[in-house]
Amino acid sequence: MKKDEIFEFFRRLAELNPDPQTELEFKDPYTLVVAVALSAQATDVSVNLATRRLFKVADTPAKMVALGEEGLKDFIKTIGLFNTKAKNVILLSQKLIDEFGGKVPEDRAALESLPGVGRKTANVVLNTAFAQETFAVDTHIFRVGNRTGLAPGKTPLDVELKLEKVVPQPFRRGAHHWLILHGRYICKARKPECWRCPVIDLCAFKPKTPAPTAKSAGSASPAR
Ligand code: SF4
Repeated sequence: MKKDEIFEFFRRLAELNPDPQTELEFKDPYTLVVAVALSAQATDVSVNLATRRLFKVADTPAKMVALGEEGLKDFIKTIGLFNTKAKNVILLSQKLIDEFGGKVPEDRAALESLPGVGRKTANVVLNTAFAQETFAVDTHIFRVGNRTGLAPGKTPLDVELKLEKVVPQPFRRGAHHWLILHGRYICKARKPECWRCPVIDLCAFKPKTPAPTAKSAGSASPAR
């Protein structure tokens, strides 16, 4: 995608959603770290259902450690991989108390030193809690970056580094939210809804999905 096309791509997404937000519910950097750690291979909806109850009881590292691993599991057992996630959340909370004065650090290396926090989680926290221009490449962004030709890459890190390079201001801070929402609701994995896509003329993906006809909308698609 050319430079002016990339600008236009984000200009349109920004026009449709000027203030994009994460769909995970949180109230401060700590609750965001916990919510993102719980969200791996789980939907934001399922995480929000659990954290709405959890954060009433434990919304600080000290309260989380006091709740303990078994206590935490009771709140998050509806979420996939909850055993590992409970262990990591307690360990990361203890580490925040021991090494960071109970506060979430604003630094990538320090964030990635926390149990269960990888590059993607660190990028989400740096972007959403600390307003840094980072690009957290999840499955949606990886797909959209490749399909559209915006930021092609073989690995999430390739796509992230490409986005770092090509996304212009004033869109760098919001870019990852726009791309996630675009991938989640329009440029879907199995069948992108190209017919209602605001960037259809800028996108390199072929063939574009046509609008469903009355007939196809009423009948199930054949299995492939
Ligand atoms: S035109 Fe289709 S493939 Fe391209 S970004 Fe839009 S929905 Fe995705």
